[in-house]
Amino acid sequence: MTNMRLQERDKKHIWHPLTQHKTAAPPIGIVQAKGAVLYDENGKEYIDGIASWYTAMYGHCNEQITSKVSTQMLTLDQVVFTGFTHEPAVELSEKLMAILPDNQQKLFFNDNGSTAVDAAIKMALQYHFNRDNKRDTLIAFEDGFHGDTFGAMSVSSLSVYNGPFEDFFLKVERIPVPTKKNIDEVVLKLKTILSENNCAAFIYEPLVQGAAGMKFHDAEGLNTLLKLCKAQNVLCIADEVMTGFGKTGKNFASEYMETKPDIMCLSKALTAGMMAMSITTCTQAAYDAFLGDEIAKGFFHAHTYSANPLACAAAIAGIDLLQSSEIKNDIARVTKSHNCFAEKIQKHPKVASTRQLGVIFALELALEMERYGNVREKLFQHFMEQGVFLRPLGNTIYILAPFIITDEQLQKIYNSIEEALSIL
Ligand SMILES: *Cc1c(COP(=O)(O)O)cnc(C)c1O
Repeated sequence: MTNMRLQERDKKHIWHPLTQHKTAAPPIGIVQAKGAVLYDENGKEYIDGIASWYTAMYGHCNEQITSKVSTQMLTLDQVVFTGFTHEPAVELSEKLMAILPDNQQKLFFNDNGSTAVDAAIKMALQYHFNRDNKRDTLIAFEDGFHGDTFGAMSVSSLSVYNGPFEDFFLKVERIPVPTKKNIDEVVLKLKTILSENNCAAFIYEPLVQGAAGMKFHDAEGLNTLLKLCKAQNVLCIADEVMTGFGKTGKNFASEYMETKPDIMCLSKALTAGMMAMSITTCTQAAYDAFLGDEIAKGFFHAHTYSANPLACAAAIAGIDLLQSSEIKNDIARVTKSHNCFAEKIQKHPKVASTRQLGVIFALELALEMERYGNVREKLFQHFMEQGVFLRPLGNTIYILAPFIITDEQLQKIYNSIEEALSIL
């Protein structure tokens, strides 16, 4: 059995995410990962140009992380987090507090980005409920992505993939993202929504919408929207699952706005690609609404693996790395490198535009195409043949590689993009 290729064995029983199994190519068997490189079962190497969905930002199998987790593994593996606490969770809370916007005071542990968002939504709804001011409407951006559980899916953009579920969604009002041009229109729309509905919360990916294709919006405009929401005590939920932990050039994208969120969702790079975990953070005022003599005023929400000690250990090692001068230098180096590449490639006739924030780089093709259409497949195949793992989205090719990627590896990604333009 074990000398059969992974591909063959996989086919028998495994159902992959985001996959139409009737037509999809068989998955590639990955046997090892180190730094910015993935190794497949035939010995072929791929540069991980998206840090495995922006998780492994300090590189795969980073020894500072693996050693911290393996030490933790021998001390305390897992314990119920209701009625118990432990050193890794407490230490992580202290480390996170030191880097989060300073109005964030409490941490709630979940398993992944979607459950961080679901917890945030439940927190916001119960916050108003507990204050005898029941509110039923959520506000979200039109083309946002917040995850695939029901709450998270409800506040994400409407798409053909959600057709079977739409009838069961939460009540959501949607607004476009703010730009320099449309801000007056968006403000007007938000004001109308706020006056016609009982709004509980506004959820947004601050400045960069990852799944929408690394789409950027305007910080000043977003700040205006946040202020409008705050004025009516509509809780602002920053979904920093993608933008968190240094990718935008600051620890959190929320730092670009003067108005701070009430609630934040963290995952992906939180545990540096090592373990599945997320955290929903909130202000003291949000937390205080759950205190009372009645037990039901509390937040009765839990996941079995809440604050798993191994995941906390990985997160602690990740934050230590994020604050190290090595990683800070890497972030500056990759940012500068993307800058130079942008300067060069934006003159190419097949490039409509480029955009960049920190180590996030995106390039818009001057072509009409579908999100998962043929051109996208052709591009993906081209990159994989070249030994570069990128996942183009619609017209967008983006790079969000581990901070520790070498200059040579970056150059290889750039070259493969330039070559891709010539085959289109
Ligand atoms: C990936 C992502 C999520 C969902 O996280 P999962 O861990 O995949 O459930 C939510 N919000 C944003 C902004 C994301 O990028």
